[in-house]
Amino acid sequence: MVIMAPVNSMKSCMAVIESGAGEIYTGADEGLFGTYSFTGRGKFTGNSTRILPEFTELERIVEYAHTKGVKVNFLANIQYLQDISDKHILERHFLDYCGNAIRAGVDSIVLGDLGLLRLVREKYDVELHSSIFFRTINREQIAFFKEYDIKRICLSYHVTLQEIEKMCMSNIMDIEVVGYQGCSMFNGTCSFLHDYGEDKFDPGLFCKGIYQVNSDEPSNIFDVEARCGLCSLRRCKSAGVKAIKIVGREMDYRKMQGIVSLFSKIINNDDISINEILPSWWKYTLCSKNSCKYIGNKYEEFMIGGDYH
Ligand SMILES: [Zn+2]
Ligand SMILES: [Zn+2]
Repeated sequence: MVIMAPVNSMKSCMAVIESGAGEIYTGADEGLFGTYSFTGRGKFTGNSTRILPEFTELERIVEYAHTKGVKVNFLANIQYLQDISDKHILERHFLDYCGNAIRAGVDSIVLGDLGLLRLVREKYDVELHSSIFFRTINREQIAFFKEYDIKRICLSYHVTLQEIEKMCMSNIMDIEVVGYQGCSMFNGTCSFLHDYGEDKFDPGLFCKGIYQVNSDEPSNIFDVEARCGLCSLRRCKSAGVKAIKIVGREMDYRKMQGIVSLFSKIINNDDISINEILPSWWKYTLCSKNSCKYIGNKYEEFMIGGDYH
């Protein structure tokens, strides 16, 4: 099982690879799509770092990653865009966008829309992954994507460990799961902005925010997503999960470096006690609040469920 870490620059690329990432993922920012968010985030993080590199930097990132034997996944997570007129050739531009990434040398393209999946499949001979936006929770969905020659599928995090084990056992295609953080809603249906920080403003995840409704006690009423994947990491590995994705393209690379090395230590050292190496902030904000993914947590009753329920 490899750690798939987010990258927004050459600097973050070097940092996460050094910390143990076996794969990285990123996107690219350019011309016509410059004002469109491919990440559900703003263009800059709260500390003024770009969230998406430009294509020239992407080429250098790919080159560096490949010298270290690390694969690069290119996320092109948007919905289908139609050509509106001769001036607004969004569909063709999207295909060029993917073509530029392929020319930069990326190893796979990750898509979250069926229309785009067909378009890209028809035009390019490239490895395709199905993103979390497809909200995959059972084997039937995986079998459906097999027909599109998809190599890997990212499961929704609204599944249980038993379901993950069954889906891995079905051996239909490679399985990826999210190991850290995520959205409170069923993926792709969140209408809140995520980390829409623009230069010195870091609002965090609004869907996890604390709200007061009438005279009720203020609470995070929208949040039904457990964030910690560390407590189920070893079982995911023995179940045969191929990649564990860490969310956080907006994150400062030094913080991301810490998270990646934590995952790496636990995956690669079976003798290490998770409890002993978990930082106290992690235990306090996540595990002690019963916010651990895939294992029975306080959100289980809200899960839609696939094979398990
Ligand atoms: Zn959200
Ligand atoms: Zn935990």
